[in-house]
This record gives sequence, C-alpha cells and structure tokens, in this order.
Amino acid sequence: MTRLAPSSPGSGDDCLVVGGGLIGMLTARELALEGWRVRILERGEAGAESSWAGGGILSPLYPWRSPEPITRLAIWSQRRYQALAEQLRAESGIDPEWYHTGMLVLDSGEGSKARYWARDHGLRLELPDNERVAKLEPALGTAPGDAVWMPEVANIRNPRLVRALRGSLDHLGVPLHEQTPVTGWLKSEGRIEGVETESGRFEAGCVILAGGAWSGNLLAGTRVSADIRPVRGQMVVFRTTPDRIRRVLLRHDHYIIPRRDGHVLAGSTLEEAGFDKTTTEEARRQLVRLAVSMVPALGNAPVERHWAGLRPGSPEGVPLIGPHPELEGLWLNTGHYRNGVVMGPASARLLTDLLMGWPTRLDPSVYAPAPAEV
Ligand SMILES: Cc1cc2nc3c(=O)[nH]c(=O)nc-3n(C[C@H](O)[C@H](O)[C@H](O)COP(=O)(O)OP(=O)(O)OC[C@H]3O[C@@H](n4cnc5c(N)ncnc54)[C@H](O)[C@@H]3O)c2cc1C
Repeated sequence: MTRLAPSSPGSGDDCLVVGGGLIGMLTARELALEGWRVRILERGEAGAESSWAGGGILSPLYPWRSPEPITRLAIWSQRRYQALAEQLRAESGIDPEWYHTGMLVLDSGEGSKARYWARDHGLRLELPDNERVAKLEPALGTAPGDAVWMPEVANIRNPRLVRALRGSLDHLGVPLHEQTPVTGWLKSEGRIEGVETESGRFEAGCVILAGGAWSGNLLAGTRVSADIRPVRGQMVVFRTTPDRIRRVLLRHDHYIIPRRDGHVLAGSTLEEAGFDKTTTEEARRQLVRLAVSMVPALGNAPVERHWAGLRPGSPEGVPLIGPHPELEGLWLNTGHYRNGVVMGPASARLLTDLLMGWPTRLDPSVYAPAPAEV
C-alpha cells in the first residue's frame, strides 16, 4: 500500500481529527484501517452532540426531494450499513442495532414523483393501497390518503452507534482526547501543521475539521465559503413493548422510529436557536400530539426522555468534503445537517480516498469547499 500522508513534522501523527462526533470518528476509523496514524481531539465527550441526539433513520426524509449529492452519499452508505454495524459489533462488543423496518411515508401527495425517483436510482418503492398499508403497520390510526412504502430503509440506534465506534477506535489504537477543545490552527507559510488546544499543541501532517455545528467557529477568518450553522432539533422517546410499531413512519415532516427493544422515538423540530440546546414544553407537546395522531396507542405510552441536539446546518444540506481551498493541510468533513448518520460512512470514505490520493468512488467536486467570495 502506498502511504500518501504528508510527513509529520513533530508528533508522528499523519492526521489529527478535530471533533469526535460520528463524522470525525468514522473518518478516523477509515484512515486507521488504511494504516494511518490518526488522533481525535474532542472538545467535550465523544459522540455526545448531534450524533447522539439524532434519530438514526438511514435515509433522508422524502428522499426524492433531496439534492442529488445527498442521494449519492446516502445510497452508498445504505448499501454498507448492515455490514458496518456488524464490523463495529465485532470490534467493540457493542451492537449498534441496525434495524430493518422499512419506511412508510404518509400523505405526501408525491407518489408518482417518488416512484420515478426510485426507478432512476434502482431502489425499491411501492405505492400501497390502504389494505396493504394496514398490514404493513397495524398500529396506524386512520387510513392515510396516500402512502409511499420504501422497504429497504433501516434505522440505527445513535447512542449505541457512537459507543460502538469508540470501541472500534480503541480496538484500532486510535487515541481520542476528550475535554480538549481546539482553539486555533498551527500555521507555517500558509500550511496547517497542527492545532492549538487548551492543553497544548498537537502537530501532524494534516488536520481534518469535523466539528459539526461548531465548524464555522474554527473556519472564521479563513477564506472558505462555509455557511455552517446550528439548527436545533428536539425529540422525545416513548417506552412501549417490542413490535408494537414495526415501521419508520413519516407524515408532514414528523416521524416515528421504532427501536428493537420497544422504545419509539418521535421527532423532530427544526429551530434556529443558535447554540442553545434547551428543550421546550411547547415542542414536547407538539411532538407527542403529532406522534399520537399517527399512532393512537402511543397516547398510553410514557414519554421517557426529551432532548435537543444541534444539527450542522449547511446550504441545501450538502456537506463540505475535501481540502480547504486556501490552507494547505486542512481538510473538511462537515455540514451534514439532517442526514449525517446516513451520509457518514460515504463521507468518511470519500475524504479518505482524497487524502490517500486514490481515485474516488464518488465524484468529489460537488462537495469541494470553495473559496469565499470577497
Ligand atoms: C434531532 C435530530 C435528528 C436527526 N435525525 C437524523 C436521522 O434520522 N438520520 C440522519 O442521517 N441524521 C440525522 N440527524 C443529523 C445527524 O445527527 C448529524 O448530521 C450528524 O450527527 C453530524 O455529525 P457530526 O459528527 O458532524 O456532528 P456532531 O455529532 O455534533 O460532532 C461534532 C463534534 O465536534 C466537537 N467539536 C466542536 N468544536 C470543537 C473544537 N473546537 N475542538 C474539538 N472538538 C470540537 C463537538 O463537541 C462534537 O462532539 C439528526 C440530528 C438531530 C439533532
């Protein structure tokens, strides 16, 4: 194997990853599997931000509405997620609970658009009648006006996925420094050679920024067009018994996600609230009301927890993956907005291929960070 990592000036690391969310950990894992010496620097606790808070649906919502660059990353990952979950379980002993439920989209009024989209992308999709819908999900309340059934969609349990990834990184010998906020770049002649943190400097051949919603803070002052902003999402989880609800259900942009053990998530809000992760009573009431209107039996189920996370919002939700246009040695993998879980494995692979100097499996140009207009 040719190792194309630039030689490391000090610590001996090939690459530093800033941010220990799903994107940072997946990227570090891919690089470590290629034999790179990689280290993660995390401001707080790894996997405790958006990657923990998300729903784990392994598909964009209304995927036929997504821009093509999102679809490409999502489909690449979807085909590999089950195997990835099994590898992570083998490496960590923690099962991320990949759960093949399918996704039933109710009342979208977009059946024929969805059907053409699925045909063009080689995916299975049906427009079921009411009788079939009732069989697919007996827990539904009223019969939907129209439905779209995507039998291939699965979901994964975020908190377990991030724990399994941590375990995998331990297994691969990737150091993970928690409570280590990166505060700035180490630069020499326009090249990034490491980072400054509150506990000292780290040097390496390259640096990958995977700071989720906070990525914009570290990019401020560099000439890159990166409009990354936090978008708050609140969720609730009901406790029910296993198999009470069988499918991911989506109606009017709100969804229900069954887990294998009977927990059922309902989400989510889309709020511009800066970096405030407070939950609100109003959102809780709204999420419960919408969930119960889809599945009346949830009216009797206790709400076990209510939380909020900050999605890394980006224009049209298309992530930035590739080299910083101005600062040599700095690479970006950020801005995954609503689809970071499903796009994560493909994003990590794409950035790894770019770093290795290998032919990429997906066209990287649509994700390439561009210089800021002056
Ligand atoms: C309510 C909700 C529901 C969602 N549902 C889904 C879904 O069903 N399917 C799906 O695909 N996606 C979903 N998402 C989106 C998905 O969770 C995100 O796109 C994804 O988790 C982003 O991962 P990340 O690693 O970029 O960000 P994060 O998980 O936020 O990780 C970024 C990390 O960087 C660290 N960091 C920041 N600044 C610094 C610094 N200066 N120094 C060191 N570390 C730093 C942070 O502490 C954090 O740990 C959802 C998100 C939310 C909030």
